[in-house]
Amino acid sequence: MKNQRRTSNNPVLPCVKPHQEPGSGAGESSSGSARSARLRLRITAAAESIVRGGHPWVFADSVREQNRAGAAGELAVIYDRKDAFLAVGLFDPESPIRVRVLHAGKPQTLDDAWWRARLDAAVRRRDGLFDERTTGFRLINGESDGWPGLVLDRYDSTLVLKVYTAAWLPRLEAIRSLIRELLRPETVVLRMSRNIQGAASGGAHSWCDGEVVVQKREELERGAPVVFLESGLRFEAEVVRGQKTGFFLDQRENRRIVESLARGRTVLNAFSFSGGFSLYAARGGAKSVTDIDLSKHALAAAERNFKLNEIEPGIASCRHESVQADAFEWLAGNPQRQFDLIVLDPPSLAKREVERAGAIRAYGRLAESGIKHLAPGGILVACSCSAHVATEEFFAAVRQSAALGGKFTELRTTRHAPDHPAAFKEADYLKGIFLRLS
Ligand code: SAH
Repeated sequence: MKNQRRTSNNPVLPCVKPHQEPGSGAGESSSGSARSARLRLRITAAAESIVRGGHPWVFADSVREQNRAGAAGELAVIYDRKDAFLAVGLFDPESPIRVRVLHAGKPQTLDDAWWRARLDAAVRRRDGLFDERTTGFRLINGESDGWPGLVLDRYDSTLVLKVYTAAWLPRLEAIRSLIRELLRPETVVLRMSRNIQGAASGGAHSWCDGEVVVQKREELERGAPVVFLESGLRFEAEVVRGQKTGFFLDQRENRRIVESLARGRTVLNAFSFSGGFSLYAARGGAKSVTDIDLSKHALAAAERNFKLNEIEPGIASCRHESVQADAFEWLAGNPQRQFDLIVLDPPSLAKREVERAGAIRAYGRLAESGIKHLAPGGILVACSCSAHVATEEFFAAVRQSAALGGKFTELRTTRHAPDHPAAFKEADYLKGIFLRLS
């Protein structure tokens, strides 16, 4: 990022206030509100120990007492059974997650210095993870970085802030200023998840900010891509309209492994999106890459990404085929096609807990039909991004399918990328398994 300034000179340690009597507790120093106005909650004993254990969510049905109605985004202070401060978080009267914890432990004033330190901590956590060949990565990964329901992704000199809860809406301007002050991006794009777009004034779902001329802003909103680097490869991200914040940054490390395995192989990339795995495979020396995706738009982005990287000899010489199809149907209907390396990275197959068992079966079936297309010595890479499917359940389903399909050597399993930390169970979604057919 241009002029990106690391902020190690800024205060990083939050200013911890001495213990205060119940009722004064923690909150924004700037609120200046009367003591009686502070939103105070008491929660069940079970929820108390969960919060003490570091979990960032308090569900509505765990709230035992509340001194008054609260508005979305207000700070709620939670007291324990002994009336001692337990935690402070963002209140949301509409969400089953009634409070998203910002801080638990000793009483804490969430003043400007505290917010600055929190952003700085997330940025510093990524120090040293990436060199200049990678200019696209996640700077804030929601709860796991202490910013519940909020992500911040960097795409070169553009930052994309995406909020998943209305509780952030009253704070957006303050966060925008903080981001501009600490990170000095050229552009900041704001996105809101679909579920909260109605709560935002005017239904606005994006803004572009900074030294963005009106023309660029309109271009971004129409879908013009931002180009960034990942491991030295150039990729486009559609930062205003694309899925997530425009790119699947969480698969970087798995793509690097695929690159290391691709030499001389014919590769199938099912659920290819904009060709992330495909570009790495091609640079790694794959003979050919076949992309399958339902979305014509995604396939066209992958074609453009191949063009953007033609300077790489492996990419220039790799045969690239795009197939617009339902990957499940295509795998079932084209038994004659064989590949030496198959990547299966479907969208989440369990969006809700009730879909969990069905999703595990679907992952198993998908792996099974993928394996039917593997040439002898071929490698299967199967991924799951369903938080509702536990890591071991997913691995077990794929291993079971592999056991039916031949003799496999397990090469490795993988988890979250280092810029996508997962600090609690519900945040732990990404897993991958690499198997080689003997
Ligand atoms: N592997 C990609 C990310 C995959 S996201 C990467 O590394 O960037 C999931 C992709 O699956 C999306 O592009 C979506 O369009 C596509 N998709 C969803 N359902 C599909 C289906 N039934 N068949 C093929 N593609 C599908």
